[in-house]
Amino acid sequence: MAKSLGPVKRKFSPWTDPSVKPFIRFENVTKRFGDFVAVKNLTLDIYEREFFSLLGPSGCGKTTLMRMLAGFEEPTEGKILLQGKDISGVPPYKRPTNMMFQSYALFPHMSVEKNIAFGLEQDNLPKGEIDARVQEMLKLVKLEPFAKRKPSQLSGGQRQRVALARSLAKRPKVLLLDEPLGALDKKLREETQFELMDIQQNLGLTFLIVTHDQEEAMTVSDRIAVMDRGIIMQVATPAEIYEAPNSRYVADFIGDINIVEGKLAGFEPRGEGGRATVICDGDFKVEVEQGHCDATAGADVAFAIRPEKVRISTEAPADTSANAISGEVWDIGYLGDFSVFIVKLANGKTFRAAQANIARLVDRPITIEDKVWLTWSADSGMVLTR
Ligand code: ATP
Repeated sequence: MAKSLGPVKRKFSPWTDPSVKPFIRFENVTKRFGDFVAVKNLTLDIYEREFFSLLGPSGCGKTTLMRMLAGFEEPTEGKILLQGKDISGVPPYKRPTNMMFQSYALFPHMSVEKNIAFGLEQDNLPKGEIDARVQEMLKLVKLEPFAKRKPSQLSGGQRQRVALARSLAKRPKVLLLDEPLGALDKKLREETQFELMDIQQNLGLTFLIVTHDQEEAMTVSDRIAVMDRGIIMQVATPAEIYEAPNSRYVADFIGDINIVEGKLAGFEPRGEGGRATVICDGDFKVEVEQGHCDATAGADVAFAIRPEKVRISTEAPADTSANAISGEVWDIGYLGDFSVFIVKLANGKTFRAAQANIARLVDRPITIEDKVWLTWSADSGMVLTR
């Protein structure tokens, strides 16, 4: 429920500065496998030192996009530019990218240090330099005590760090990570996410990560591209994707949300933004304050609101003309910090409200079958026109 909103600690937003050129640019890229179009006329800019996530359901084209950047596949149409230069035809080993696979692909018969050194030996680097870089990498991923072990003598998290060290040893400018934490359990995954962010920031590298885990993308990324069947639906910071999704698809894909279909009754400009009125399910009226609205009165739109923005009370509000609906508590999900109340409305549909579990000894807790009112402020919902 309470989502991390990404690495907000760092002031980093080159995409807002028109004078900064993108580091990587996919320009009108299409990839076909026979008749099947895996990536459709896609344009995307990624900036130097960015931690960028490709997020989407299985088969939406994330890995294909990454493999084209690494040079394992070529676009059918369009081009990929790295620092402004077209890299089509450049073989993978000559690109300043390195890909870390989900399987890690470690050599089982080699020790940790030999695994890390392997790519450097292939490149015929002097022995002294190889040794120095292996030591540097072991230190970076905190595996110095394990240098002589074989992969089978390591935990899953340690193996993941060997794979990371091996990918970084060649000092790529861009590290491509395909589901890098997929094999780890939840707790280790969360710890490793923060390690990855530290390493990326300390080394000043550009990371492109493929994941279908929305929480992971929210935690690690500067920006996220949400994909659907070969196209990008939205590219934005985790906070923007969460607070201002541009479509039903993105709203529904990230986090928990109530989405109700309705008709736009009108949009009245006020100051810098305006107030949209929507009649939901032909039933209740909502008013939404937002920057703009690209639909006209009468259009089919959706009203969306996150459960944590919905207040629940057994008392009726003073004004029930808009942004207030009543129903009966049908189910309660206890999530530790939060409880989620599933409320059945008079029209038979359900609506969710989440409430922090702060003990209020004087109040009787809301329970199953209670008659309740759900209310929210006009600036906490959104109108989705796509
Ligand atoms: P996942 O999360 O499951 O890895 P993804 O978003 O990374 O999915 P891709 O691996 O990019 O998806 O695949 C996109 C689509 O292209 C899929 O439908 C896949 O079957 C198809 N595809 C990928 N590679 C090939 C190939 N070499 N030949 C034919 N079809 C392919």
